[in-house]
Amino acid sequence: MKLTHRDEWRVMVTIKPRTPADLGFIGIASIAEFVAPTAPITVAVLPRRLGHLGFISMSDRMASSNVEADYRARCEEIATTLRGLPHVEETSVTCTETHTCSHCLLRWEELTAEEAADDSLTQDEHSVEGEPVCCDKAIAEFRTERGIPALALGGAA
Ligand SMILES: [Zn+2]
Repeated sequence: MKLTHRDEWRVMVTIKPRTPADLGFIGIASIAEFVAPTAPITVAVLPRRLGHLGFISMSDRMASSNVEADYRARCEEIATTLRGLPHVEETSVTCTETHTCSHCLLRWEELTAEEAADDSLTQDEHSVEGEPVCCDKAIAEFRTERGIPALALGGAA
């Protein structure tokens, strides 16, 4: 089975500063007026670790019963707060998804349409697009779910 892990949560923030102070350029307010970005400025704002509680630090799993949901919520809160600032133009919450196989723990990969059409890359004539490639158990599970004939034992197709 394909397992999805979400990690590296972050808030992508595009800013459009109008004054030097919007960029933290202080001390020049009496002689400087505007700033003009030459290209969109996008930065990643990373949430504080869930297990970082200021006075004590522990693993995220000890601090939260649902690490993924709590990171998402923390990022949403950051995004909501930043959206209220005048020089913030756009925010989006994002993360990195990795897919692994529940049986062999390897990275999840599937046959593409082109690969499924190439006999040298398939298991047998029943291989179709989307079939996992990591291990026999994943292939068997995929085929059982779809009523596709199982792999012949012994390998050779
Ligand atoms: Zn596998």
